Amino acid sequence: MRMHRLYVAEPLSSPSELTLDGDTAHYLIKVLRVSVGQSLQLFNGDGVNYFAQVLELQKKSLLVNITDCECPNNEPSLAVSVAFSLFKAERVEWLLQKGTELGATEFVPIISQYTDGKNAQQLEKKQARWQQIIISACEQSGRAVVPVLQQSESFRDFLQTDSSDAKLLLHPYQSKKLSEFPLPLQRVTLLAGPEGGFSEAEVDEAKASGFRCLSLGPRILRAETAPLSALSIVMDQWS
Ligand code: SAM
Repeated sequence: MRMHRLYVAEPLSSPSELTLDGDTAHYLIKVLRVSVGQSLQLFNGDGVNYFAQVLELQKKSLLVNITDCECPNNEPSLAVSVAFSLFKAERVEWLLQKGTELGATEFVPIISQYTDGKNAQQLEKKQARWQQIIISACEQSGRAVVPVLQQSESFRDFLQTDSSDAKLLLHPYQSKKLSEFPLPLQRVTLLAGPEGGFSEAEVDEAKASGFRCLSLGPRILRAETAPLSALSIVMDQWS
């Protein structure tokens, strides 16, 4: 039987016994229909996988016995922050899911000059759903560290606070490729524009804040395709 892998927002340790209730218990009991003795893999974002067995089942809770743990060692050696100027909600979901699978460590939604106003308003309502999409992608991909989803911020605030040692603005009309940049030490930021792109003034401002323009080739990629494409190249060449 396939071992279910599940995020739990609780402190975990091995060996220990733990009672699970609330939504987690509902999902395990009613949706996955686990039985006594069944093996589970739990993680809480601390970088460790915990192996457990179901000891007791109640109507709305279950007792599990954590017997072992391991570090999966599948996190990138380089922290990669994906900053994206907000676009349509369903495409943001795609970006968060695929970006988590590909190893992003942080997502930063940005409001820039050509961000659609409606898209900017969606964030507050969507934050919990987007966080759940990231967690589900961790469950599926075997990650034991959950990427951070930041609150949205303005383009200018973002430029002032970003502290990466490689700052790359994805720009379709530039020619520099990733191999032309020096290898960063710890952290890279990928900054992608909305469907309407960045204004010239924003590109200049980003350059003045240390960003350099990265090309992903001669074709114009959709707003969600560009950061995912850049992320895979960074993971392949730098991490
Ligand atoms: N007409 C827009 C413009 O003038 O920039 C195109 C925007 S594109 C649909 C959305 C974002 O994806 C861009 O702002 C850029 O960050 C990124 N992007 C798309 N194609 C790219 C490419 N070939 N190289 C680098 N970045 C790209």
